Amino acid sequence: MDLNAKIVVILGAGESGVGAAILAQAKGAKVFVSDYGTVKPSFQQELGEYGLEWEQGTHSMDRILEADLIVKSPGIPEKTPVMKAIREKGIKVVSEIELAGYFTTAKKVCITGSNGKTTTTMMIHHLLTKAGMNVGLAGNVGYSFAKQVALENKEIYVLELSSFQLDDMEDFRAEIAILTNITPDHLDRYEYNMQLYVNSKFRILQNQTAEDFFIYNADDAIINAELEKHSIKAQLLPFSLTKTFEKGAYVENKQLIINYNNQFIMSIHDLALKGKHNTQNSLASGLAGRLLDIRKDVVRESLSDFVNVEHRLEFVAKVCGIEFINDSKATNVNSTWFALESMENPTVWIVGGVDKGNDYSELTALVKEKVKAIICLGKDNQKIMDAFSGVVETIVEAGSAMEAVAYGYRLAKKEETVLLSPACASFDLFENYEDRGNQFKQAVRSL
Ligand code: ADP
Repeated sequence: MDLNAKIVVILGAGESGVGAAILAQAKGAKVFVSDYGTVKPSFQQELGEYGLEWEQGTHSMDRILEADLIVKSPGIPEKTPVMKAIREKGIKVVSEIELAGYFTTAKKVCITGSNGKTTTTMMIHHLLTKAGMNVGLAGNVGYSFAKQVALENKEIYVLELSSFQLDDMEDFRAEIAILTNITPDHLDRYEYNMQLYVNSKFRILQNQTAEDFFIYNADDAIINAELEKHSIKAQLLPFSLTKTFEKGAYVENKQLIINYNNQFIMSIHDLALKGKHNTQNSLASGLAGRLLDIRKDVVRESLSDFVNVEHRLEFVAKVCGIEFINDSKATNVNSTWFALESMENPTVWIVGGVDKGNDYSELTALVKEKVKAIICLGKDNQKIMDAFSGVVETIVEAGSAMEAVAYGYRLAKKEETVLLSPACASFDLFENYEDRGNQFKQAVRSL
């Protein structure tokens, strides 16, 4: 893509927008950045440092509609007036990832899925860093991909891609694509149509060639059904907890096995992250590592010393023998399913928040087996109470993280666990899931 003397308008001045602006300017474009909200001071400063023109609190439509190319933040929905006007005029719209993709020849390992993206992305980044590669981390985590392409020269990138990012990608090619799973999420952005969401995830495969690889969860019914419908050019590398493959990764007799070139075997007891879902993440990461020719001892060491990202089944503290776990990032039913599944002690479960159309019946069997009491932490808890009133005897409501932790401390006994795994978004009582997790941890530490 030649941006020389072109007008590029960037919508949204966050990490990705500012990075896109820096890159577009470096490639000779005339850049204007427009953010309808307020721009964080650190980004204001950065825009200033690069001499970029920008505005906040408004969208100057005359300037925006002059653009040859729009780079849109994935957070801006299509239904906003600004997007409608842009579409009406037929201006090309891309994501920051797509833009950066035009200007790099580095290899890209791209991770998408409903759950496990960040964990898998970080694990692969850890693995490649340990292997001594010059690796960039971008997408939903780390620094802007576009900015790194503009200012640095990495040999390989590990990119976490949300479905929103994939929606604005057309020519982008993932040399290695990883799909962790597909379960209902964000349906509000997809007209409550699951197929549209699935299509969006499968965009990670578009533009792949026979030289590329597709690593996917072969235990996922939706992915398997969808694969039948597509003729995939990339080489397929499945991973599974139940099936075995001549080429792929799986678990057999408590061993994690990767069949790619030479066989790699390690005990699942040596994996740093526990729980079935994390074993899946380790399978995907190890497979990517072996595919990239990383030595077996490096793969083994990386999978066994990886430190998980905050707010994902994070051990907080043991207070009077009661274990507190922060899984605030569990914002849908599937991630909470895996959290409950991995609980080994009787559990007091803190759940609730903004429900994105949850079907709690998927959790009933596990709740029956593992949960001794429920603490609802949301403004409107009726749906949760209705779903579990016949299943768990004790259900209480808390209006803050502090109150929830106090209840947890009262309801749990020694050798039991208090688990915050909300299955919901956090915006009713908290700023975001990090804020919810941090308040929870603070409350635990002040017990
Ligand atoms: P994402 O980036 O896709 O939101 P994260 O790695 O941040 O995924 O994890 C989000 C939540 O999902 C956490 O509660 C985590 O424990 C859980 N989780 C992690 N990996 C998986 C997986 N493979 N399948 C289901 N849930 C997962």
